[in-house]
Amino acid sequence: MKIGAPRELFEGEARVAMTPESALQLQKLGHECLVEAGAGKLAGFSDEAYAAAGVTVVDGPATLFGAADVVVKVRPPVEAEVDMLRPGQTLISFFYPAQNSALLERAKDKSATVIAMDMVPRISRAQKMDALSSMANIAGYRAVIEAGNNFGRFFTGQVTAAGKVPPAKVLVVGAGVAGLAAIGTATSLGAITYAFDVRPEVAEQIESMGAQFVFLDFEDTQDGAATGGYAAPSSPEFREKQLEKFRELAPDMDIVITTALIPGRDAPKLWLEDMVKAMKPGSVVVDLAAERGGNCDLTVPDQKVVTENGVTIVGYTDFPSRMAAQSSTLYATNIRHMLTDLTPAKDGVILHNMEDDVIRGATVTHENAITFPPPPPKVA
Ligand code: NAD
Repeated sequence: MKIGAPRELFEGEARVAMTPESALQLQKLGHECLVEAGAGKLAGFSDEAYAAAGVTVVDGPATLFGAADVVVKVRPPVEAEVDMLRPGQTLISFFYPAQNSALLERAKDKSATVIAMDMVPRISRAQKMDALSSMANIAGYRAVIEAGNNFGRFFTGQVTAAGKVPPAKVLVVGAGVAGLAAIGTATSLGAITYAFDVRPEVAEQIESMGAQFVFLDFEDTQDGAATGGYAAPSSPEFREKQLEKFRELAPDMDIVITTALIPGRDAPKLWLEDMVKAMKPGSVVVDLAAERGGNCDLTVPDQKVVTENGVTIVGYTDFPSRMAAQSSTLYATNIRHMLTDLTPAKDGVILHNMEDDVIRGATVTHENAITFPPPPPKVA
């Protein structure tokens, strides 16, 4: 089959879904690889590097979509891209089917198969294809780097001839994949790191990364924690306790990184205006939940704002794209693993096995039908 990666159309998107290295691996599965000219440029992969890896470089999206049997992308397709799909063709990309129902209909009407990387089930066997996690890991790391870039002091404490410097204090709110990456990065830079999550079971992971778990004095510690490993909305009483704790911490924190999300909902507001006002001038808030409305009251998505009391609030929504070489490498590897499972005989023939839980879970349109949401996972 011909696997092709077009140039991303989303403004500012620097990632690419195929790298020269992933193309070499795809060729070992018996596939041919194509890339649109310039698709890898912003991630540091030149057309020449693709050509040297045996990839055919083609001009323009129409040629790419016309020639490829499987189109691999990062961002959900725009309408014009869906319109270029043809019956039987496969598209693999982030898709967010619950938020993109019109696009989903359109892809079904085109009789194309769409595999949504955001729908890969989060089970152990599928970790190698878990692009949400690989991108969240990068976002957590980059959040600390952005915080450092906007913070006028060291992270680590130092005793120098010119004076003693205290270590920075960092609070991470939400300890999923991104939060844990942020904790690891902040701790390795020498900050004193604190972290909070509604799921008490993550306390051990937080501590193993070198941070202190912020305990709440609340009788039902399971409040806000749901089955399936994801958080649920907390009760008003729990939320009040949580906000009370954050109010207590705010004046003492130099950097706050918020990553709290609940599947399918807007981000919970957790770092409120009065907390920002209580922070010291020069402090930084990085809101990784900005795309879903933000955990901080004052976050402006895609912007960096400085409050009157001198607190910088970073609401960028493109952290992985800001490290496009790294994120493209990991994303392209996630895609390559998906294609490995779709090519069981390694003979260049795609076998779309809807009996396979991972392939079934990620497939959102197939054979003229919308196949989202998938059936609940089988209970063993
Ligand atoms: P996420 O990005 O959806 O959410 C981030 C974090 O915010 C979560 O830890 C959540 O508990 C927390 N949160 C929600 N509301 C909060 C609040 N009010 N206050 C503080 N924190 C709050 O999470 P994620 O990174 O996608 O991970 C979610 C779960 O999925 C975790 O249990 C993780 O271990 C699991 N997971 C499993 C796999 C796998 O098995 N392959 C892979 C990735 C993640």
